[in-house]
Amino acid sequence: MELDLQRIRYACDLTPWGSLTSALVVGMLLFGTSGTGSDAYRTFLFGGVELVAFLQILVSLVVGRYLSRRRRYKNVRLMRLVFVSLGLCLGVMWATMPLTLFPPAPPHQQVIVACTCAGLIATALAFVPIAGMAECLTIPLGTASAYTLLSLGGRDWFALFGCLVIYGLFIGSVTVQVRRLLDKITLYRLETQEQRSTLQLLSGRSDAGEIWSLWETDRNGVISFLSPDLAHIFDWKPSLEMPHNFLNTLKEKYINSTNDIRGPISKKIVDFTHMVNCLNESISFRDIVVPLKVNDTVSLWSFTGRPMFDDHQDYCGFRGLAYDVTDTFTERFEEAHQARNDAVTGIPNRHALNEALRNALSDLGRTGRTFAFYLVDLDEFKRVNDRLGHNAGDAVLRVAAARLARVGGDGAFVARFGGDEFALLLQDINPPEAIHAAQDIVDLFLEPVKLSDQDVVVHVSVGLALAPVSGDSIESILDAADLAMYNAKRAGKNTWSCFESSMSGQIEQRRVLLGQFREAVTNREIVLAYQPLIDARTLTLVGFEALARWPQPDGSFVPPDRFILLAEETGLICELGNYLLEQACRTAVSWPTDLTVAVNVSVGQLQAPDFLLTLRTILKKTGLPPARLELEVTESIFMDVNSTCAGVLHGLSDLGIKLALDDFGRGYSSLGFLKEFDFYKLKLDMGFIRDMNHDRRSAAIVRSVIELASELGVVVTAEGVETRSQLDALRRYGCTQVQGYLFSPAISGEETALIAEKSRFSPLHFFETGARSA
Ligand code: C2E
Ligand code: CA
Ligand code: CA
Repeated sequence: MELDLQRIRYACDLTPWGSLTSALVVGMLLFGTSGTGSDAYRTFLFGGVELVAFLQILVSLVVGRYLSRRRRYKNVRLMRLVFVSLGLCLGVMWATMPLTLFPPAPPHQQVIVACTCAGLIATALAFVPIAGMAECLTIPLGTASAYTLLSLGGRDWFALFGCLVIYGLFIGSVTVQVRRLLDKITLYRLETQEQRSTLQLLSGRSDAGEIWSLWETDRNGVISFLSPDLAHIFDWKPSLEMPHNFLNTLKEKYINSTNDIRGPISKKIVDFTHMVNCLNESISFRDIVVPLKVNDTVSLWSFTGRPMFDDHQDYCGFRGLAYDVTDTFTERFEEAHQARNDAVTGIPNRHALNEALRNALSDLGRTGRTFAFYLVDLDEFKRVNDRLGHNAGDAVLRVAAARLARVGGDGAFVARFGGDEFALLLQDINPPEAIHAAQDIVDLFLEPVKLSDQDVVVHVSVGLALAPVSGDSIESILDAADLAMYNAKRAGKNTWSCFESSMSGQIEQRRVLLGQFREAVTNREIVLAYQPLIDARTLTLVGFEALARWPQPDGSFVPPDRFILLAEETGLICELGNYLLEQACRTAVSWPTDLTVAVNVSVGQLQAPDFLLTLRTILKKTGLPPARLELEVTESIFMDVNSTCAGVLHGLSDLGIKLALDDFGRGYSSLGFLKEFDFYKLKLDMGFIRDMNHDRRSAAIVRSVIELASELGVVVTAEGVETRSQLDALRRYGCTQVQGYLFSPAISGEETALIAEKSRFSPLHFFETGARSA
């Protein structure tokens, strides 16, 4: 059907040329043979040829237009019949010409007639597309010419007859050949069109602009067709003697190595296996990206293919499309890489970690493979960043990433969780191994990190969660590891902690506590209690330390150790701290003017840009002279010291406020800090005081710290003094101040005025009535 249609299309294009020739030639012929033949015949010939030629041109135009406009056609046979009939009319019309005009014509006119006949036979080439149409012209005209020549007799005419037969045969055979050729071209075009449309359909791509290559195999998998691009890659030529097996050639060119292209090639290896299976099993496949080696470089080709079946539904080969997707794929990969990887360390980021956890959980569900999840927090990272700069900080992060990658080997998944936190996922691991690995992580970080100009020690705190015992969802595992890490931090850092089921209640508890705490801060529910500070020599009151208390509805208090940390973590510390500072100053103004108030200040508070301003405002508002205010800071301030923090410390001294170094002895305990900043006092950690009477070392430390401090002219306060013997020893060593349950626990703000009054007259009386329990 399609072939017939195409023949008619060709006929529409060519026929008018033949018709036009006839229409012109008939005029010339009659002009050249004037006087020969009757007028009636001459009129008949002229009118008849012109009419048929006109009809042929008209039909060609009309049919041509019709075919170009419609997609579905009827009456293909009728169209062919019309063309053939008109051709026959023309042929018959012309056949009368030699019979009628040749015999009576004078010799010079006979030449004209003969030449016209020969020329007309040649115009049959214009009627080649439709089978029979050219023959309708050549056979009647040729036969009539031959008959005329033979009936005239004589050698000359016989020779002309011979020539006529030769031309006739030539035209006849060329007509057949040309028609076959046209049919072949038509069939090839139709086939290619069909291929394109099926493959476009199959690949889901209809954008004609896309450059794609075709490939086709026969039933044995031997390549039967390749577009030039693929042919070049596969070294394939249509004329090759040796059959090229598609799959074997593909395997030869296929690169099964992750060295040449980074990233998700491993997935493509799986895809390639899938493609091989599809080819072997005659199953359609789509968009499988395969890395192929082309002239020592790697190209990525996307293959789509579909098996073909013949009329008997027997498999007869594969046909498909291939695209070079190297550029788009690399771009996409780069984007994906950036989206999934941390820019500083190059290792996966939190987003990628979530995915890895999801996969690990799905593995756990399917195969029961347990896994261990570690949250690793660098303990002193901020100090490195602040002291040595961000480049050094980045270098430490990179070293940390590399060290973590060493734990657990190839199967380990390391990600940067954010800031100075890393995550490590180890699959197929039992609890003892997981714990061993946790210790390995801590040990790995005992070694200093070598930077270009110096070495820095950065320890880690590790939280470990084991799946499924610690949790079976991403959130629960992250929470569990976070809680364990938090525990490791509380246990003094540079250690690991494993999540235990008993902790799970803590997660919920913590969440509830956080909600309540926010409310308490907003509603100003947190209050201050005041613990007396006593002069060690005279045992008289020198001031009070303000300690925060969070009263509960049942009359109990949440200890500050718990909620201060919460405030620091949630950023509520400034709001709370400033409020408490103001309360403490307000209370202190009501005391005798020689008494001081000591307020604990967190690092987060000190770091607030407006801390000094706030402090000045508070002092102004409450009217407390700066000299009566002591601010207690812990050594952690030196971990975070940066120019702002150092500036604030100096600013405080400039204001006339006294600085006390709290919990001395618990951390680094560098006396250098006392020199560097203008500390007025150091507070000996109560751990030493508790142990000094039964531990010689503690006693020695207490003694030497007191001695050194007095050399430096710094006041020493011993915290947590609970017994008379502790007090006696401290007095002997020359300790300046004492504080503890031996004298009094922290008391309410109202009670402070009473105690201040009593102590003025009799320090011992106050001492004896001091509460002895917390
Ligand atoms: P700290 O500054 O070392 O406070 C001394 C702690 O020792 C207080 O605990 C006090 O009640 C307790 N203590 C006093 N005498 C004795 C004793 O003889 N024996 C024993 N065993 N303990 C004694 P508290 O009130 O629970 O406070 C704990 C910590 O919370 C404080 O330690 C301080 O670091 C922090 N904190 C308290 N209030 C605030 C505050 O307003 N702001 C800030 N940033 N931190 C605060
Ligand atoms: Ca304190
Ligand atoms: Ca303390």
